[in-house]
Parts: sequence; structure tokens; C-alpha cells
Amino acid sequence: MVSRVIPVDVFDLVIFGGTGDLARRKILPGLYRRFMAGQMPADSRIIGAARADLTDDAFRDQVRAAIAEFAPKARQDAAVIDAFVARIHYVAIDATGTSGWAKLTGMMRDNVVRAFYFSVAPSLFGDIASRLHDHAIADPWSRIVVEKPFGRDLASARALNEVLARHFTEAQIYRIDHYLGKETVQNLMAVRFANILFEPLWKAEYIDHVQITVAETVGVNGRGAYYDTSGAMRDMVQNHMMQLLCLIAMEPPYHFDPDAVRDEKLKVIRALKPVPPENIVRGQYAAGGNESGYLDHSENPASRTESYIALKVHVSNWRWQGVPFYLRTGKRLRARASEIAITFKQPPHAIFDDAKGWHENVLVIRLQPNEGMNLMVMIKEPGPGGMRLMQVPLDMSFADAIDDGEDVPDAYERLIMDVIRGNQTLFMRGDEVEAAWAWTDPIIEGWETRGDRPQTYDPGSSGPEDALMLMHRDGRRWREIKE
Ligand code: NAP
Repeated sequence: MVSRVIPVDVFDLVIFGGTGDLARRKILPGLYRRFMAGQMPADSRIIGAARADLTDDAFRDQVRAAIAEFAPKARQDAAVIDAFVARIHYVAIDATGTSGWAKLTGMMRDNVVRAFYFSVAPSLFGDIASRLHDHAIADPWSRIVVEKPFGRDLASARALNEVLARHFTEAQIYRIDHYLGKETVQNLMAVRFANILFEPLWKAEYIDHVQITVAETVGVNGRGAYYDTSGAMRDMVQNHMMQLLCLIAMEPPYHFDPDAVRDEKLKVIRALKPVPPENIVRGQYAAGGNESGYLDHSENPASRTESYIALKVHVSNWRWQGVPFYLRTGKRLRARASEIAITFKQPPHAIFDDAKGWHENVLVIRLQPNEGMNLMVMIKEPGPGGMRLMQVPLDMSFADAIDDGEDVPDAYERLIMDVIRGNQTLFMRGDEVEAAWAWTDPIIEGWETRGDRPQTYDPGSSGPEDALMLMHRDGRRWREIKE
């Protein structure tokens, strides 16, 4: 199946932090793939901006190297790469100073979409926003894209929103949560709202519980100093996992339109109950084998930052009364696997004398690796000898449904094109981010006030023992973490 290419307007995309890690790994290779797919109209330009003094050609060489390293090998075509880098320019600019801004002003063109990607530390957002305004580089139709982390608590998120709001309207601000750009995550909405099959069952009456897992095998490695100021709650739960929870729990929006979707997500965040300490397990990975432990990467040998967290969360509204959402995420776990699993209740009456005793349907949405969905259904075990049941997957792997696995678009590709199109549906609105912090803050403050320490867990394990108990004491179990 060949995916349909929807044309976009001619654009100038300025990437502040164009030489940085995110630009190299995600933004530039993603743009290359969109270019290859025919989605970058002739005359569109990409302008890298950072302090380093580079010529256009030197920056183009960096872009070539980024494509060689991070674009799929099967999609590397010398002629296409040449044509792509010909669209690329560079301006040396200091976000906090004066150099480079006049040059960037001179490069702007009328009648094209102007987009500015802030792929820099959030402390620079205000400086860049004000200079884009003061030099009249941004026009009323310009868009700005900002990266996570969007604040580290409610107060700092509000301050960032205020800084951006001085020069840009909410309709111009695109706060990226790349989880929302994942095909499977969008498919979750398609499955829920484009099929009659699921929505009637999508409520407390039929759903037993929901599990959301984001498991990583990597540790904090070189990011130790940054991570130590963040931790799993801020780094993963407050943003990505909260967004996933919202898409599962939200009411059907009246239309697939930015405000309609975001209004419904906001209602979910506001309906989240405070989480008591007994429903939270925090962990920190120990050293193991030749591998260093969390504390080896921290500047603080007594750090209490969690590299793992599991929570039992309730959405306090009519639809989800009594349905627990179990969330867990961690580093240095046994496998890299992210999934959402929606476990339905057992049928009301068992007519088969089946020794196994469980007849549950589970809808599994895999985010990585192998994006796709599985619906676990019960069938009869083949062969004679009575009515024994077995659980089998109705498999919907994207890799099988399209040409080849490499064609699943990366989240960043999709989201950048949405910026150019002016579609904010898959971006977080300022009030959503603030509501998410308003729920997160008291949880973190509670740890700090009580001086809670995370439990140690073995690298390569499923996390701390107590996380298993979080489910066991409810008569449930976590799904196995496996690729
Ligand atoms: P990075 O590798 O440290 O890159 C920072 C970029 O900003 C460089 O291009 C740097 O170039 C430029 N820069 C720094 N100070 C500047 C200034 N005063 N004026 C102009 N340019 C300046 O950071 P990153 O990892 O790409 O992260 C960028 C943003 O994305 C951060 O907000 C980060 O939290 C977020 N993010 C990153 C990732 C990731 O995987 N890397 C994932 C999610 C979110 P010069 O030093 O030459 O100026």
C-alpha cells in the first residue's frame, strides 16, 4: 500500500539548535524522508540556526552525515540527498545576543509559511521569541514549535506559557509531545472513533483495567546530570504517559479538530484523582555486571531521583468509575517495550468447563518496537477432546499492512508536516500542560516532604518488587515486558 501524499504550502522552516542532537537524530532525517515522499514543495527551505560559525556547505555536510546515520538505509539515495541539501541554509545566530538576527531578517520571504522550531534549551525560548518579534521576523501567520520539557512544575510551565504568549497567540504555538505523532497512537483514536465495535464496550461496565508501559533498556548514561533534576515522573509520566491516558479515557470529540480533541483531553486530566502514596512505587536501578548503576551517573551520591515509577491512577468520572489505570515506566529494564493494554472483563457467565478459568479479551496497542495492534480473543483449541479454550491474537502489525516496516513514518515527520499545515490537533495546548503539572506537583511535593527514597531494582529486571505488589494486591498482574 502506498501512502497518500497530502500537499503542503511552500515553507521556510528555521531550526534554532539546527546543529544539536535532536535536529541531527530526528528533525533533519525526518524532513529528508518527507522530501523524498514529495511533501516539500519546490522553493521550500530549511534554515539551520545556532551559534557555531558555519557556511551553508559546512552545515549541509552535517545534514548529510545525520541522514547517513539516522535515516533508514533503504531510503538513502545520493541524488535525493543532493536535491534535499540544496534546500538547506544556515545562519550563525546567538539567541541571547545580537549577532545573526539581521541576516535572518533579510532571509525571510513573503507569502510562504514561516515556521520556527525551538530545538534548544527551554531557557532560550523567551530570548528567541522576543527577537523574532522585535526583528519582525515572525508574522501573524508564523508558527513556533517548542520541545519538551515544558516546565518542571506548574509555576515554571506557567512562566514559559507567559513568555511565549507575549509575542505569539495560542494558535501559533505548537508544543511537541512526539508520542502523539506515533502512528499507533493516532490509530488508537481511529480504532475508538471510526469503528462501532469498541466504543460501546469502552467503559467501566466492560473494561477491567488499563495498563500503560514504557520500558527502556538504556540507563541515563551521559544524561545523568539533566535526568537527576527530572526523574521518571517528570520525564515520562507528566507528558507522554498522561497523553496516552487521555486518548484512552477521553470522550468522543465532536470532530477531529484541534480544540475539540484538546478540550476532551483536558477534561480527563482534570478528572484525575490525587494519587495516595500507597499507589505509587518508585525505583532506582542498581549497578549490575559491568554496568554502572543510577547513582554512578548522578552528581549527588544520595540522589532520590527515580529512574522507575509505577502508579495506580483513577479517572474520576462517570465512564471510568472504579477502573484502575496502571502506569509504569523505567530505565534499564529487561526489554525495550512500550504498549497500552486494555483488559476487558470476563463474560458474565461461563458455559465452558475450561480449566484455565480466564476468558479475557485484551486490546494491546504496541508503540515500540513493531508498532501495531493485537486484539486477544478466546477460541477453541484445535482438535478433538472437548472444549478447551485458548487465547490468540488478531494481529494488525503495521509492518505487515504496508510495503515494508521502514515506511512507518516517524513521529517527528508527521508532526512537522502538521505544523506546516497549521494543524494543532496533535500538539498540547497551554492549559493541558498546566493541568498536567497541577496533578503532578502534589505527588512530587509529597515525596520531597516525606523524604521518600526510591527502591533499588536490578538492571535487566522488571522493576522493583513492590511494583508487582501494586497489581497483585488487586488480584491482577503486569503483562510481561518483552520485545
Ligand atoms: P543539544 O544537542 O545540546 O543542542 C543544542 C542546540 O542549541 C545546538 O545546536 C546549539 O548550538 C544551540 N544553541 C545553544 N545555545 C544557543 C544560543 N545561545 N543561541 C543559538 N543557539 C544555541 O540539545 P538537544 O538534545 O538537541 O535538545 C534541544 C531541545 O530539545 C532541548 O529543549 C531538549 O530538552 C529537547 N529534546 C531533546 C531530545 C533529544 O533526543 N535530544 C528529545 C526530546 C526533547 P551552538 O552551541 O553552536 O549554539
